[in-house]
Amino acid sequence: MKITRVRTYILHSALSQPFASSRAWYDTRTAMLVEIETDQGIIGWGECYGPARMTAAVVDSVASWLIGQDPLRTDHLWQMIYAGLRDHGQKGVVIEGLSGIDIALWDIKGKHFGVPVHQLLGGAQRTELVAYATGLLRRRADHSNRYLAEEAAGYVAEGFSAVKLKVGFGLEDDVATIRLVREAIGPTVQLMVDANHAYDSIAAIRLGRMIEHHDIGWFEEPVPPEDIAGYRAVKAALSIPIAGGECEFTRFGFRELFVSRALDIAQPDTCAAGGLSECKKIADMAETFGLRCIPHVWGTGIAIAASLHLLAVLPSNTPPSLRPIAPMLEFDRTEYPLRQAILTEPIEHTRGIVPVPEGAGLGIEVDRKALVRFAAQ
Ligand code: CA
Repeated sequence: MKITRVRTYILHSALSQPFASSRAWYDTRTAMLVEIETDQGIIGWGECYGPARMTAAVVDSVASWLIGQDPLRTDHLWQMIYAGLRDHGQKGVVIEGLSGIDIALWDIKGKHFGVPVHQLLGGAQRTELVAYATGLLRRRADHSNRYLAEEAAGYVAEGFSAVKLKVGFGLEDDVATIRLVREAIGPTVQLMVDANHAYDSIAAIRLGRMIEHHDIGWFEEPVPPEDIAGYRAVKAALSIPIAGGECEFTRFGFRELFVSRALDIAQPDTCAAGGLSECKKIADMAETFGLRCIPHVWGTGIAIAASLHLLAVLPSNTPPSLRPIAPMLEFDRTEYPLRQAILTEPIEHTRGIVPVPEGAGLGIEVDRKALVRFAAQ
Protein backbone atom coordinates (compact mmCIF):
# COMPACT_ATOMS: atom_id res chain seq x y z
CA MET A 1 0.00 0.00 0.00
CA LYS A 2 1.25 3.46 -0.89
CA ILE A 3 0.21 6.99 0.02
CA THR A 4 -1.12 8.80 -3.05
CA ARG A 5 -2.42 12.10 -1.69
CA VAL A 6 -2.35 14.29 1.42
CA ARG A 7 -4.99 17.01 1.77
CA THR A 8 -5.65 19.68 4.39
CA TYR A 9 -8.96 21.28 5.35
CA ILE A 10 -9.10 24.59 7.21
CA LEU A 11 -12.51 24.89 8.82
CA HIS A 12 -14.12 27.78 10.60
CA SER A 13 -17.23 28.23 12.70
CA ALA A 14 -18.61 31.41 14.21
CA LEU A 15 -19.85 31.33 17.81
CA SER A 16 -23.25 32.77 18.73
CA GLN A 17 -21.69 34.31 21.84
CA PRO A 18 -17.98 35.02 22.43
CA PHE A 19 -16.20 33.29 25.31
CA ALA A 20 -12.95 33.85 27.15
CA SER A 21 -10.25 31.87 28.86
CA SER A 22 -7.79 33.79 31.02
CA ARG A 23 -5.86 34.97 27.97
CA ALA A 24 -8.34 36.11 25.28
CA TRP A 25 -11.89 36.42 23.99
CA TYR A 26 -12.89 34.17 21.10
CA ASP A 27 -15.76 34.71 18.64
CA THR A 28 -14.85 31.92 16.21
CA ARG A 29 -13.27 28.47 16.39
CA THR A 30 -11.20 26.86 13.68
CA ALA A 31 -10.08 23.33 12.92
CA MET A 32 -7.47 21.78 10.64
CA LEU A 33 -8.13 18.29 9.33
CA VAL A 34 -5.75 16.01 7.42
CA GLU A 35 -6.95 13.47 4.84
CA ILE A 36 -4.50 10.86 3.54
CA GLU A 37 -5.42 8.69 0.54
CA THR A 38 -3.82 5.42 -0.53
CA ASP A 39 -3.61 3.42 -3.75
CA GLN A 40 -5.85 0.78 -2.16
CA GLY A 41 -8.73 3.19 -1.69
CA ILE A 42 -8.29 3.41 2.08
CA ILE A 43 -8.56 6.96 3.43
CA GLY A 44 -7.35 8.13 6.83
CA TRP A 45 -8.36 11.23 8.83
CA GLY A 46 -6.37 13.23 11.33
CA GLU A 47 -6.64 16.57 13.09
CA CYS A 48 -4.11 19.17 14.18
CA TYR A 49 -4.47 21.32 17.29
CA GLY A 50 -3.21 24.87 16.99
CA PRO A 51 -3.36 27.72 14.47
CA ALA A 52 -5.07 26.15 11.45
CA ARG A 53 -3.38 28.05 8.64
CA MET A 54 0.06 27.37 10.12
CA THR A 55 -0.49 23.66 10.72
CA ALA A 56 -1.97 23.37 7.20
CA ALA A 57 1.21 24.95 5.82
CA VAL A 58 3.32 22.40 7.71
CA VAL A 59 1.29 19.44 6.46
CA ASP A 60 1.16 20.77 2.88
CA SER A 61 4.90 21.34 2.87
CA VAL A 62 5.77 17.77 3.92
CA ALA A 63 3.02 16.11 1.81
CA SER A 64 5.47 15.33 -0.99
CA TRP A 65 7.70 13.41 1.48
CA LEU A 66 4.80 11.06 2.15
CA ILE A 67 3.70 10.33 -1.42
CA GLY A 68 4.72 6.79 -2.41
CA GLN A 69 5.46 5.77 1.21
CA ASP A 70 3.89 2.78 2.97
CA PRO A 71 1.35 4.30 5.42
CA LEU A 72 1.63 1.32 7.79
CA ARG A 73 5.18 2.34 8.81
CA THR A 74 3.89 4.87 11.32
CA ASP A 75 7.00 5.13 13.51
CA HIS A 76 9.26 5.29 10.45
CA LEU A 77 7.25 8.11 8.85
CA TRP A 78 7.08 9.98 12.18
CA GLN A 79 10.84 9.83 12.49
CA MET A 80 11.31 10.83 8.84
CA ILE A 81 9.28 14.02 9.28
CA TYR A 82 10.68 14.80 12.74
CA ALA A 83 14.27 14.32 11.58
CA GLY A 84 13.62 16.36 8.43
CA LEU A 85 12.47 19.35 10.49
CA ARG A 86 14.36 18.72 13.73
CA ASP A 87 16.61 21.76 13.32
CA HIS A 88 13.59 24.03 13.01
CA GLY A 89 10.59 22.45 14.69
CA GLN A 90 11.13 20.40 17.85
CA LYS A 91 8.04 22.06 19.36
CA GLY A 92 4.95 23.95 18.25
CA VAL A 93 3.21 24.01 14.89
CA VAL A 94 5.60 21.57 13.20
CA ILE A 95 4.77 18.88 15.76
CA GLU A 96 1.08 19.82 15.61
CA GLY A 97 1.21 19.24 11.84
CA LEU A 98 3.00 15.93 12.35
CA SER A 99 0.32 14.94 14.89
CA GLY A 100 -2.51 15.21 12.35
CA ILE A 101 -0.52 13.18 9.81
CA ASP A 102 0.26 10.47 12.38
CA ILE A 103 -3.40 10.16 13.44
CA ALA A 104 -4.48 9.80 9.78
CA LEU A 105 -1.86 7.06 9.28
CA TRP A 106 -3.23 5.15 12.30
CA ASP A 107 -6.75 5.48 10.87
CA ILE A 108 -5.46 3.90 7.63
CA LYS A 109 -3.64 1.16 9.55
CA GLY A 110 -6.75 0.21 11.51
CA LYS A 111 -8.90 0.18 8.39
CA HIS A 112 -6.29 -1.92 6.56
CA PHE A 113 -6.30 -4.58 9.28
CA GLY A 114 -10.03 -4.21 9.93
CA VAL A 115 -9.62 -3.42 13.64
CA PRO A 116 -10.02 -0.35 15.85
CA VAL A 117 -6.84 1.67 16.43
CA HIS A 118 -6.83 0.81 20.15
CA GLN A 119 -6.35 -2.85 19.27
CA LEU A 120 -3.15 -1.99 17.36
CA LEU A 121 -1.95 0.31 20.16
CA GLY A 122 -1.85 -2.59 22.60
CA GLY A 123 -5.46 -3.53 23.23
CA ALA A 124 -8.21 -1.78 25.14
CA GLN A 125 -8.17 -1.80 28.91
CA ARG A 126 -11.68 -0.32 28.93
CA THR A 127 -14.63 0.13 26.59
CA GLU A 128 -15.83 3.47 27.93
CA LEU A 129 -14.42 6.53 29.66
CA VAL A 130 -15.70 8.69 32.43
CA ALA A 131 -15.79 12.15 30.85
CA TYR A 132 -15.24 15.40 32.67
CA ALA A 133 -17.08 18.46 31.41
CA THR A 134 -14.79 21.19 30.14
CA GLY A 135 -16.71 24.41 29.98
CA LEU A 136 -17.31 27.20 32.45
CA LEU A 137 -15.54 29.73 30.27
CA ARG A 138 -16.34 33.37 30.72
CA ARG A 139 -19.20 34.56 28.54
CA ARG A 140 -19.63 38.07 29.90
CA ALA A 141 -17.18 40.76 30.84
CA ASP A 142 -18.86 41.53 34.17
CA HIS A 143 -18.14 40.22 37.63
CA SER A 144 -21.44 38.53 38.29
CA ASN A 145 -20.43 34.96 37.59
CA ARG A 146 -23.65 33.34 38.75
CA TYR A 147 -24.22 32.00 35.21
CA LEU A 148 -21.15 29.79 35.75
CA ALA A 149 -22.77 28.20 38.80
CA GLU A 150 -25.89 27.51 36.73
CA GLU A 151 -23.81 26.03 33.91
CA ALA A 152 -21.93 23.78 36.37
CA ALA A 153 -25.16 22.59 37.98
CA GLY A 154 -26.42 21.80 34.47
CA TYR A 155 -23.46 19.45 33.86
CA VAL A 156 -24.17 17.64 37.12
CA ALA A 157 -27.84 17.31 36.13
CA GLU A 158 -26.69 15.76 32.81
CA GLY A 159 -24.77 13.14 34.78
CA PHE A 160 -21.19 14.44 34.76
CA SER A 161 -19.25 13.51 37.90
CA ALA A 162 -16.42 15.99 37.22
CA VAL A 163 -16.22 19.53 35.80
CA LYS A 164 -13.41 21.96 35.01
CA LEU A 165 -13.59 25.71 35.60
CA LYS A 166 -11.46 28.37 33.95
CA VAL A 167 -9.59 30.59 36.38
CA GLY A 168 -6.86 33.17 35.91
CA PHE A 169 -9.10 36.24 36.07
CA GLY A 170 -7.54 37.69 39.20
CA LEU A 171 -7.30 36.00 42.59
CA GLU A 172 -10.37 37.60 44.18
CA ASP A 173 -12.53 36.85 41.17
CA ASP A 174 -11.23 33.26 40.96
CA VAL A 175 -11.81 32.55 44.65
CA ALA A 176 -15.37 33.89 44.53
CA THR A 177 -16.18 31.95 41.36
CA ILE A 178 -14.72 28.69 42.69
CA ARG A 179 -16.84 29.06 45.83
CA LEU A 180 -19.99 29.67 43.74
CA VAL A 181 -19.31 26.67 41.51
CA ARG A 182 -18.41 24.34 44.41
CA GLU A 183 -21.67 25.30 46.14
CA ALA A 184 -23.60 24.67 42.92
CA ILE A 185 -22.19 21.18 42.25
CA GLY A 186 -22.09 19.92 45.84
CA PRO A 187 -19.24 18.20 47.69
CA THR A 188 -19.00 14.92 45.73
CA VAL A 189 -18.56 16.11 42.13
CA GLN A 190 -14.89 16.59 41.17
CA LEU A 191 -13.91 20.19 40.48
CA MET A 192 -10.74 21.03 38.56
CA VAL A 193 -9.44 24.53 37.77
CA ASP A 194 -7.44 25.69 34.75
CA ALA A 195 -5.53 28.99 34.71
CA ASN A 196 -4.22 28.66 31.12
CA HIS A 197 -0.88 29.84 32.51
CA ALA A 198 -2.18 33.27 33.52
CA TYR A 199 -0.12 33.46 36.73
CA ASP A 200 3.44 33.47 37.94
CA SER A 201 4.32 31.05 40.73
CA ILE A 202 3.75 33.70 43.44
CA ALA A 203 0.14 34.33 42.37
CA ALA A 204 -0.52 30.65 41.62
CA ILE A 205 0.61 29.58 45.10
CA ARG A 206 -1.47 32.33 46.68
CA LEU A 207 -4.55 31.24 44.73
CA GLY A 208 -3.92 27.57 45.49
CA ARG A 209 -3.74 28.22 49.25
CA MET A 210 -7.03 30.13 49.12
CA ILE A 211 -8.88 27.31 47.32
CA GLU A 212 -7.30 24.15 48.76
CA HIS A 213 -10.24 23.64 51.14
CA HIS A 214 -12.63 23.31 48.15
CA ASP A 215 -11.19 19.85 47.34
CA ILE A 216 -9.77 20.76 43.91
CA GLY A 217 -9.10 17.74 41.67
CA TRP A 218 -6.18 19.45 39.95
CA PHE A 219 -4.78 22.91 39.23
CA GLU A 220 -4.04 23.03 35.49
CA GLU A 221 -1.40 25.24 33.84
CA PRO A 222 -0.85 27.47 36.87
CA VAL A 223 2.24 29.08 35.30
CA PRO A 224 3.70 29.44 31.78
CA PRO A 225 4.87 26.17 30.17
CA GLU A 226 8.50 27.29 29.98
CA ASP A 227 8.65 27.97 33.73
CA ILE A 228 9.57 24.51 34.98
CA ALA A 229 11.01 25.93 38.21
CA GLY A 230 7.72 27.77 38.72
CA TYR A 231 5.80 24.50 38.29
CA ARG A 232 8.05 22.88 40.87
CA ALA A 233 7.52 25.72 43.32
CA VAL A 234 3.73 25.58 42.92
CA LYS A 235 3.72 21.79 43.27
CA ALA A 236 5.88 21.92 46.40
CA ALA A 237 3.71 24.60 48.03
CA LEU A 238 0.25 23.11 47.47
CA SER A 239 -1.63 19.95 48.36
CA ILE A 240 -3.65 20.27 45.09
CA PRO A 241 -2.31 18.02 42.27
CA ILE A 242 -0.64 20.08 39.53
CA ALA A 243 -1.49 19.36 35.86
CA GLY A 244 -0.04 20.61 32.59
CA GLY A 245 1.39 19.64 29.25
CA GLU A 246 -1.05 20.82 26.58
CA CYS A 247 1.70 23.25 25.47
CA GLU A 248 4.44 20.61 25.52
CA PHE A 249 5.54 18.45 22.61
CA THR A 250 7.04 14.99 21.99
CA ARG A 251 8.68 12.58 24.43
CA PHE A 252 11.72 14.84 24.47
CA GLY A 253 9.74 17.80 25.78
CA PHE A 254 7.88 15.72 28.36
CA ARG A 255 11.15 14.17 29.50
CA GLU A 256 12.14 17.54 30.96
CA LEU A 257 8.83 17.90 32.81
CA PHE A 258 9.04 14.36 34.18
CA VAL A 259 12.70 14.35 35.21
CA SER A 260 12.26 17.63 37.05
CA ARG A 261 9.03 16.38 38.73
CA ALA A 262 7.25 19.54 37.56
CA LEU A 263 3.80 17.91 37.36
CA ASP A 264 1.54 15.37 39.03
CA ILE A 265 -0.65 14.90 35.92
CA ALA A 266 0.64 15.02 32.34
CA GLN A 267 -1.79 16.30 29.72
CA PRO A 268 -0.32 15.70 26.25
CA ASP A 269 -2.72 16.57 23.42
CA THR A 270 -2.97 13.78 20.84
CA CYS A 271 -3.41 16.38 18.05
CA ALA A 272 -0.45 18.50 19.23
CA ALA A 273 2.23 16.54 21.09
CA GLY A 274 3.04 14.23 18.18
CA GLY A 275 -0.05 12.15 17.41
CA LEU A 276 -1.04 8.71 18.64
CA SER A 277 2.45 7.25 18.13
CA GLU A 278 4.11 9.86 20.30
CA CYS A 279 1.40 10.25 22.94
CA LYS A 280 1.50 6.49 23.61
CA LYS A 281 5.24 6.86 24.24
CA ILE A 282 4.66 9.91 26.47
CA ALA A 283 2.00 8.01 28.43
CA ASP A 284 4.34 5.04 28.89
CA MET A 285 7.00 7.43 30.12
CA ALA A 286 4.54 9.03 32.56
CA GLU A 287 3.80 5.60 34.00
CA THR A 288 7.51 4.97 34.36
CA PHE A 289 7.81 8.13 36.43
CA GLY A 290 4.76 7.26 38.54
CA LEU A 291 2.76 10.16 37.10
CA ARG A 292 -0.82 10.27 35.87
CA CYS A 293 -1.57 10.86 32.20
CA ILE A 294 -4.93 12.47 31.39
CA PRO A 295 -4.70 13.77 27.82
CA HIS A 296 -5.81 17.26 26.81
CA VAL A 297 -8.65 17.25 24.25
CA TRP A 298 -9.92 20.33 22.41
CA GLY A 299 -11.13 19.75 18.87
CA THR A 300 -13.67 18.16 16.54
CA GLY A 301 -15.04 14.64 16.67
CA ILE A 302 -11.83 13.42 15.01
CA ALA A 303 -9.72 14.70 17.90
CA ILE A 304 -12.15 13.16 20.39
CA ALA A 305 -12.07 9.78 18.60
CA ALA A 306 -8.26 9.73 18.43
CA SER A 307 -8.08 10.61 22.13
CA LEU A 308 -10.55 7.85 23.02
CA HIS A 309 -8.36 5.23 21.29
CA LEU A 310 -5.35 6.42 23.28
CA LEU A 311 -7.34 6.56 26.52
CA ALA A 312 -8.65 3.04 25.89
CA VAL A 313 -5.14 1.57 26.12
CA LEU A 314 -3.64 3.68 28.92
CA PRO A 315 -3.01 1.93 32.23
CA SER A 316 -5.05 3.03 35.21
CA ASN A 317 -3.77 6.12 36.94
CA THR A 318 -3.07 4.04 40.00
CA PRO A 319 -1.11 0.76 40.09
CA PRO A 320 -3.17 -2.40 39.46
CA SER A 321 -5.57 -3.00 42.34
CA LEU A 322 -9.17 -3.91 43.04
CA ARG A 323 -10.21 -0.25 42.86
CA PRO A 324 -8.18 1.28 40.01
CA ILE A 325 -8.64 4.93 39.09
CA ALA A 326 -9.01 5.11 35.30
CA PRO A 327 -7.93 8.16 33.30
CA MET A 328 -10.75 10.54 32.33
CA LEU A 329 -11.75 11.95 28.94
CA GLU A 330 -11.71 15.73 28.65
CA PHE A 331 -15.08 16.45 27.04
CA ASP A 332 -15.49 19.99 25.75
CA ARG A 333 -19.04 21.21 26.36
CA THR A 334 -18.62 24.75 25.02
CA GLU A 335 -20.33 25.91 21.87
CA TYR A 336 -18.58 24.42 18.81
CA PRO A 337 -20.82 23.67 15.81
CA LEU A 338 -18.00 21.80 14.03
CA ARG A 339 -17.45 19.29 16.82
CA GLN A 340 -20.57 17.23 16.12
CA ALA A 341 -21.13 18.26 12.48
CA ILE A 342 -17.89 16.77 11.21
CA LEU A 343 -18.96 13.17 11.97
CA THR A 344 -21.94 11.36 10.45
CA GLU A 345 -22.42 9.86 13.92
CA PRO A 346 -21.24 12.36 16.53
CA ILE A 347 -19.57 11.12 19.72
CA GLU A 348 -21.92 11.84 22.61
CA HIS A 349 -22.03 11.06 26.31
CA THR A 350 -24.63 9.22 28.36
CA ARG A 351 -24.72 10.41 31.96
CA GLY A 352 -21.09 11.52 31.69
CA ILE A 353 -19.83 8.28 30.10
CA VAL A 354 -18.41 8.12 26.55
CA PRO A 355 -17.95 4.79 24.70
CA VAL A 356 -14.68 3.97 22.91
CA PRO A 357 -15.30 3.70 19.13
CA GLU A 358 -15.28 0.08 17.98
CA GLY A 359 -15.23 0.45 14.17
CA ALA A 360 -12.09 -0.09 12.07
CA GLY A 361 -9.43 2.62 12.28
CA LEU A 362 -10.63 5.59 14.32
CA GLY A 363 -14.13 4.13 14.00
CA ILE A 364 -15.65 7.33 12.66
CA GLU A 365 -17.06 8.56 9.36
CA VAL A 366 -16.45 12.12 8.24
CA ASP A 367 -19.41 14.03 6.80
CA ARG A 368 -18.00 15.62 3.65
CA LYS A 369 -20.89 18.08 3.46
CA ALA A 370 -19.61 19.62 6.69
CA LEU A 371 -16.16 20.07 5.12
CA VAL A 372 -17.79 22.29 2.49
CA ARG A 373 -20.20 24.04 4.84
CA PHE A 374 -17.47 25.06 7.32
CA ALA A 375 -14.64 25.68 4.84
CA ALA A 376 -12.71 28.83 5.73
CA GLN A 377 -12.64 31.52 3.04
CA1 CA B 1 -6.27 23.62 29.60
